[in-house]
Amino acid sequence: MAVLPIRISGDPVLHSPARPIEEIDDELRTLVADMFETMDEAPGVGLAGPQVGVPLRLFVYGWTDDDEVQHRGVAINPTLWQSPLTVDELDEDNESEGCLSFPGERFPLRRAERVILEATDLDGEKYEVHADGWLARIFQHEYDHLDGVIYVDRLTHPFGKAAQKVQRKNSWGVPGLSWLPGRDHLED
Ligand code: ZN
Repeated sequence: MAVLPIRISGDPVLHSPARPIEEIDDELRTLVADMFETMDEAPGVGLAGPQVGVPLRLFVYGWTDDDEVQHRGVAINPTLWQSPLTVDELDEDNESEGCLSFPGERFPLRRAERVILEATDLDGEKYEVHADGWLARIFQHEYDHLDGVIYVDRLTHPFGKAAQKVQRKNSWGVPGLSWLPGRDHLED
């Protein structure tokens, strides 16, 4: 297994829709193992194919909730159904998320409270997860990556502007940038 470099905002693979996976083979199994290792090393709660330069429709996730229940898996060719968004004011403490491809930053963003994830696992078995709260947020964030969307693309005023400023300050937003968990330590 190996920790993979994580692409940073601006790399074209992060801003293009990913392709469906056609076959579950050893190459894919190795990729998934590497993605879990990379996510854990970062550390993060989710990681999508495009973030490690692979334009395929899969993501891994790993998160432990307040009741110490571990939610961990791989979603291959997922579909996501989501409840409608509410429009009341954003709560910066409870609705801020981050992204390993926009490292060291967090911004508030409204997400659907409930989702249903349908996906295939590494054995080729279809499964379904009904999620709410933070797990639902993780699924929406990772699913976005498969459509070439980073959460900062969705930010509303004034947070979108703040994110653009961060991108300029870090000289991100250009092709070819990445960081390696365990080796690079990114400062805010
Ligand atoms: Zn992300």
